[in-house]
Amino acid sequence: MKNKPLVRLLSALLFSYCMTPVQAQEQTQAQAMLDVKKLASAEMAGRATDTKGSELARDYLISRLQQLGVRPCSDDYVQAFEFQTRQGGKRNGRNILACRPGGMNGHETAPMIVISAHYDHLGERAGQIYYGADDNASGVAAVLAIATAMQSQAPQHDVMYIFFDAEELGLNGSRAYAAKPLVEMQRVGININFDMVGRGDKGELYASGSYHTPVLKTLLAPLDGNQGVKLRFGHDRPEQGTDDWTKQSDHLPFFLAGVPHIYFGVEDHADYHQPGDTADKINPQFYLGAVDLLTKASYLLDRALLTTNFRVKDGQTIALPAHGKDVSK
Ligand SMILES: [Zn+2]
Repeated sequence: MKNKPLVRLLSALLFSYCMTPVQAQEQTQAQAMLDVKKLASAEMAGRATDTKGSELARDYLISRLQQLGVRPCSDDYVQAFEFQTRQGGKRNGRNILACRPGGMNGHETAPMIVISAHYDHLGERAGQIYYGADDNASGVAAVLAIATAMQSQAPQHDVMYIFFDAEELGLNGSRAYAAKPLVEMQRVGININFDMVGRGDKGELYASGSYHTPVLKTLLAPLDGNQGVKLRFGHDRPEQGTDDWTKQSDHLPFFLAGVPHIYFGVEDHADYHQPGDTADKINPQFYLGAVDLLTKASYLLDRALLTTNFRVKDGQTIALPAHGKDVSK
């Protein structure tokens, strides 16, 4: 075939039109497990920043976005950046950005949503691969599942998907993005960030950030118990020290720029940052329930953003620019 991506896209479209919503959802969930296995494979060798494994992961993610028909936000899916390591050396990182236009009138000027997950992990150390299945192939695959859903059911607001690089080296990808955002940070209504959402050792998924934006707890609380997943709130109070997750993943640069955030993740487990964080330890029942919950949460926040301002500063809400009306059914 001369135009393989086009043929793939057309056959994917044809296939999805022939499926019932339940079949489509089942396929998206099966695909999420496949994505985790692929990203956490030996071939990708732990996806350390600026390695062959990282490049393979990037190629894979870009091909998945193309397959879904999700376009880059600018000329390229990749935002390259340079950063300084904790040891003082210079390194290169590459974020991946894709955009889904919102469905409502005036979406171009309305607040937008950034849904993110870091795709890098620790790579190889002392001859051992740190696979990073939960951390954070699980979050990346969840973003892809949401992107899949949003291709057939448009969100109201513009959505930007970002796969950050070099999170493990000090949130360098998200810091680089925040220093050079594609869309001004003022316009971002909320950052929804996933980091480790696949291990349901206790059946619990945490939503962190509602301490700073209390309305988010009210909005998301009804999702508790979705497909057996217990949704917990917390890990976001400054007095909790290292149990406060506000500074621990890529939502931090958004938080520092005054952007409301909600971060979903599980508590640390025995395989956290260990070679044992492998795909076979992802609990499919929990993970697929979590992916479904995160998809519902994303739509719910998209709808809520039509009428609710998540942005609070010094106890005062900041007025949102007036924007389109709800056009969903
Ligand atoms: Zn992580």
